Amino acid sequence: MITHQIIAAAGVQKLQPYIPGKPIEELQRELGLNSIIKLASNENPLGASEKIKAALAKELNQLTRYPDGNGFILKKILSEKYSVELNQITLGNGSNDVLELIARAFLNQQTSAIFSQHAFAVYPISVQAVGAQAIVTPAKNWGHDLAAMADAVVGNTRVIFLANPNNPTGTWFTRAELTEFMQRIPKNVVVVLDEAYCEYAQPAEYPNGLDFLAQHKNLIITRTFSKAYGLAALRVGYALSSPELADILNRVRQPFNVNHFALVAASIALQDDEYLEQSRALNQVGMRQLEKGFSELNLSYIPSIGNFIAVDFASPADRVYEALLKLGVIVRPVKNYQMPTFLRVSIGTQEENQRFLEFLAQVLIE
Ligand SMILES: *Cc1c(COP(=O)(O)O)cnc(C)c1O
Repeated sequence: MITHQIIAAAGVQKLQPYIPGKPIEELQRELGLNSIIKLASNENPLGASEKIKAALAKELNQLTRYPDGNGFILKKILSEKYSVELNQITLGNGSNDVLELIARAFLNQQTSAIFSQHAFAVYPISVQAVGAQAIVTPAKNWGHDLAAMADAVVGNTRVIFLANPNNPTGTWFTRAELTEFMQRIPKNVVVVLDEAYCEYAQPAEYPNGLDFLAQHKNLIITRTFSKAYGLAALRVGYALSSPELADILNRVRQPFNVNHFALVAASIALQDDEYLEQSRALNQVGMRQLEKGFSELNLSYIPSIGNFIAVDFASPADRVYEALLKLGVIVRPVKNYQMPTFLRVSIGTQEENQRFLEFLAQVLIE
């Protein structure tokens, strides 16, 4: 008998979509509040620079034109800044786009990919969407256990995803640890080093993925303009890799995946050292402020080198999350990361952090 039921591809059948932070407009609609603090999506509290706003206003007459599908100007600036060739760069509609390109280019139902417990949600989603097997290694002190990840490689493993620092835990690994890891990984396995928050990372032992590119043809570094560069709305990120891997990624890339406004803004942002410095400075101060605030409330947290921090309530965090929402504060539940007692809080302006801590204190005594 012929049935006419529509059947999704194997991996898609049980796919759980990514859960984003609650949008400000949604909470406004629900509660009729007008003053809302969103510390839920690791966005840059500085807002976009005036330089970028002015530049974009001048580009409005480009709305009817397709963008430069090759992103030449942005690639040129990236290549000069990071001393890579143009053919080592793959541009993405956000770095999430690049992560998906990687899954599509290297994985299928006969292969497997490795990532850590508590790792960024886009890895499991991208892997499952293409029907590949996910090998999840247990976390060590909330972070990646690189030795366990290297041990987990099997014959059909094609990709390993590493986040440094990881979101939502903020944990990181050192240059020495990454060096040892790369030496252990077979050359036919693609290692994805997701450096979405590298611009915030301060420790001297924090590795710059760029230093590993020349020696490791199987390495793909992904970075984004959504976080420290403050351009999350525009959706633009990139990968740096060997020309061989960039060629493969660019084959599966949509021809116009990065829009004109994103290309223009990212090109300016990349040359605006002052904005980046301000972002870093604000983040440092805000991180210390939240750490101090949590300690005063007797809450433990996972030390983070990103622009967010996971705080532990020692019992399911849903009540605190809901109570904060009612007061107009949006943070991020991380139940779906197997961290039900935690909330992830993005670093805001000092005033936002202060108000958040005051509301939190209030919620905790209720
Ligand atoms: C935010 C984030 C990204 C990038 O997001 P895009 O906005 O798509 O560039 C990538 N990886 C991690 C770990 C992130 O937290």
